[in-house]
Amino acid sequence: MNMKIDPWSALNIDDYSKLFEEFGILPFDQLLPEITGPHRYMRRKIIFGHRGYDLITDAMNNGKPFSVMSGFMPSGKIHLGHKMVMEEIIWHQQQGGDAFVGIADREAHSVRGMSWEKCRDIGINEYLISLIALGFEPHGHIYFQSDSEQVKDLAFELGSKANFSELSAIYGFTGETSVSHMLSAVTQSADILHPQLEAYGGPKPVVIPVGADQDPHIRLTRGLGHKMNMFKIEGRENKDGRHYFSIRSKAAPEGALKKLAERISGRTKLFEGHVDVFDLDDFGKLQKIVREVELEFGGYAFVPPSSTYHRFMSGLQGGKMSSSVPESYISLTEDPKGAANKVRKAKTGGRITLEEQKKLGGEPDKCSVYELLLFNLVEDDGELAQIYNECVSGQKVCGNCKALAAERMEKFLKEHQELREVAKDRLDEYGL
Ligand code: SF4
Repeated sequence: MNMKIDPWSALNIDDYSKLFEEFGILPFDQLLPEITGPHRYMRRKIIFGHRGYDLITDAMNNGKPFSVMSGFMPSGKIHLGHKMVMEEIIWHQQQGGDAFVGIADREAHSVRGMSWEKCRDIGINEYLISLIALGFEPHGHIYFQSDSEQVKDLAFELGSKANFSELSAIYGFTGETSVSHMLSAVTQSADILHPQLEAYGGPKPVVIPVGADQDPHIRLTRGLGHKMNMFKIEGRENKDGRHYFSIRSKAAPEGALKKLAERISGRTKLFEGHVDVFDLDDFGKLQKIVREVELEFGGYAFVPPSSTYHRFMSGLQGGKMSSSVPESYISLTEDPKGAANKVRKAKTGGRITLEEQKKLGGEPDKCSVYELLLFNLVEDDGELAQIYNECVSGQKVCGNCKALAAERMEKFLKEHQELREVAKDRLDEYGL
């Protein structure tokens, strides 16, 4: 038998990679050598792509400031999919990132029609208590969109740079879409950009861990951030074929371009509306000066946000997880024994008969039990590789595997729920 040896091959990441090729998403595994102690999602190609994550590795490796940010819409039960994002936030916080978590109550209110009280209740009791129980530290920032004047003000400003056609192309808005719904879309962009406001230390790389379907939103926000900046830096070539940079602004206050020309060392030429820079040797330094002058003259200066893309877990019965089908997912707040039962009933990649299983081996890439082990229940790569190899070589039977996954799931939920009880008493440390 031709035994596969890559236990991560179950992920079918090629499908995702192809999906994003045209949008310039880069494979994440190329950055792995730069990362000390990568998270299991990184090692196992569950995080398969990124945009601009090299800024984050540079910051992590050189002690520079960076942030991590994500939000949760308080609309239902917290499940393993939310846990993924939370783990990614906490991992970046442990690597020195200033961490931000927003509860998207404006979105839940405008899109789902939920009352503010219900949003707050679900936001705290489902999501934030688990976030704290999973290890989020109090020096990070937790907020509700409706409470944050900074986010609301920035959303309004961003709204002046976004138009209806752009938003409808991304979110499918129609003539029936409410204005509040549209505002909640730019509020999400404000969530992503606000860690770069002066109140939080100014411009810096910010990583947004998202699911594979969220890239349009990241692209919108990168574009809006770019449009908000006072200056645009463009690479150009003159008629002699010589390369130079042109820093342009239509709206810079008087004196801002002059100040810029003075601060840039080397050869600069000041024109009406732009400064040209020749023989530049350090682009990073140029960007830094440009941002400092933008801030000095009261403008915005955003570094385009970075992102990582993870693939989704499938439903326990195969297909997609669905919040309307409780058997398809496991919630972090459900009864641990009931959850273990769901695992025992989950779809596997086993063959119809034991004989076939021994002869052909199982199919872990079609197995939701293997997925639970891969994403959540086995930290040790060696142990996972052994399960994988024993499955594909026909040495393993699904019953044993299910028993292992069910036992670990029950244990994890029991412990997590105990930690949630501790977290409930610590809410004031987080300003909640
Ligand atoms: Fe899945 Fe385990 Fe069965 Fe393989 S042996 S198909 S990993 S349950």
